[in-house]
Amino acid sequence: MTIQYRIAPADLSGHYFDVTLTIALPDPAGQVLWLPVWIPGSYLVREFARHIVTLTASADGAPVGLTKLDKHRWQAAPVAGPLVVEYRVYAFDLSVRGAYLDDTRGFFNGTAVLLAVAGQEDRPCRIKLVAPKGKAYRDWRVATSLTPDGAEPGGFGHYRAANYDELIDHPVELGEFTSDTFKACGVPHQIVIAGRHRADLKRLKRDLKKICEYQIRLFGEPAPFQRYVFMTMVTGDGYGGLEHRASTALMAARDDLPRAQDTDIRPGYRQYLGLCSHEYFHSWNVKRIKPAAYAPYDLHREAYTRLLWAFEGITSYYDDLTLRRAGLISEASYLELLAQTMTQVQRGAGRLKQTLEEASLDAWVKYYRQDENSPNALVSYYTKGALAAASLDLTIRLRSDGQRSLDDVMRALWLRYGRDFDARGQGVPEDEWERVASEAAGLDLADFFAQALRGTGELPLAGLLREFGVDSQLRPMAGGADKGGWKDLAPNGAGNSLGARVTAEAGGVKLTHVLEGGAAHAAGLSAGDVLVAIDGLRVNAGNLDGHLGSWPAGSRVGIHAFRRDELIERELVLASATADTWGLRLLDTAEAAMLARRRGWLGGA
Ligand code: ZN
Repeated sequence: MTIQYRIAPADLSGHYFDVTLTIALPDPAGQVLWLPVWIPGSYLVREFARHIVTLTASADGAPVGLTKLDKHRWQAAPVAGPLVVEYRVYAFDLSVRGAYLDDTRGFFNGTAVLLAVAGQEDRPCRIKLVAPKGKAYRDWRVATSLTPDGAEPGGFGHYRAANYDELIDHPVELGEFTSDTFKACGVPHQIVIAGRHRADLKRLKRDLKKICEYQIRLFGEPAPFQRYVFMTMVTGDGYGGLEHRASTALMAARDDLPRAQDTDIRPGYRQYLGLCSHEYFHSWNVKRIKPAAYAPYDLHREAYTRLLWAFEGITSYYDDLTLRRAGLISEASYLELLAQTMTQVQRGAGRLKQTLEEASLDAWVKYYRQDENSPNALVSYYTKGALAAASLDLTIRLRSDGQRSLDDVMRALWLRYGRDFDARGQGVPEDEWERVASEAAGLDLADFFAQALRGTGELPLAGLLREFGVDSQLRPMAGGADKGGWKDLAPNGAGNSLGARVTAEAGGVKLTHVLEGGAAHAAGLSAGDVLVAIDGLRVNAGNLDGHLGSWPAGSRVGIHAFRRDELIERELVLASATADTWGLRLLDTAEAAMLARRRGWLGGA
């Protein structure tokens, strides 16, 4: 028997969805209902049930008692007939991970608003999306990758899913959004943009098509979905994305979308394309090739795996690489992105303490719960994972004399686990990933994995890059906006560094992170301190570097700062900026063998 849902924007200004759930055959012992505590793809316990404000049940028009069992589960009193559950959910999370409703737009992930029926999670589901009442909303439409079951394309009405797992993996956008379509390898793709914008959709379609076709062909046609939807919410400064089996929900800054007058790809647009590429790649890597720990997902509690680096790190490696291989950006532009990733990893002492496997396992309590000490304490399985993936790819290419690559590893994982995931539901066991990789590469990679995944030593990437005709430099940061990339070094060095991350604050400069071993750490400054003067002169975000650079390294200068509302005085021993910034460029004098390797790597196989 089908589980029936009905969801309606009820009080738009109050941000409430009303949901009705009808269960034809409730558990005779008393039906248990539950809401996920986390959403797949975002590894933090979010307790979505806290947003349910009222919940009642009835059968045959008579009320049925409900008992709250714990933070996310309820149990109805035993009834024979259809059980009807009605509840109201507060939806005001403007992110890709929850639900949102106001009088301009609605959005939801099923994980935040659709209760699961315990013991009946495998049954087919039917959901009715109801339009908000009122003339002001008559132009509202629907965007979702859910399969229509009576609804017109883009319309309110009925949709269906094979089971609860599928039901909650198709986010839904409601409102007056911009939309366009294109085909990639024959598969229909839809672009949906909500929020005010002036994006050039023709340009976006053309560029996304290249990304999609490259990735579909990388794993082999056919694509693993019948249809795909890129959903973007535009705000002034948004950034983020979440992957789903046939769609992605994204947040982007308005200025990062392409404009009609653009002649090339601006850095913001390059970043947006990288985000689209990242989430699209997840259609294969994590939505279908999954760790066994996610097959199926346990949405009642944290699901632990040491393999998150492979699902996020490898996806982070291929997101930018796809832009290059699909011909959207130059080799130099790709190397700039890679150098920025290398720089992000280099700038945290956490890389010397946490391994990639540890970072994966502790994602729930470390990566997703970052604080002022995080750069000193943890490494990102995204960024270091991407560098491990790059190192693995180049190692395989070099040792197999160009015959194999990480592409072969991904295809082997796809054939073994991903392609038939829907039928077999088999995830990658924790100890199988490395075995499949070694087999697909035709190499013994045990030493590589021991070092890259279970060690905290530096990855061999710079040395490998040289074999591919890429020159590297590790240099001091040149000012606060320097994210990495090649720079010809000034003969006098790069000045002094405070050894802290800062943000502008009225009347001074606020330290957000004090980096281990830096000058601020040695001077006894803490995160949260607001630096107001150096040697009696007022500082702000604009003149800080200039002040620090006006003394030779080793000088001792008095500083004033506010800690909470108390003025403190400390002595700062100025230290030269350490080399924490990577630059990469094509080697002018590369040998023919290097050039051939580079073509194989960056030009696509
Ligand atoms: Zn991801």
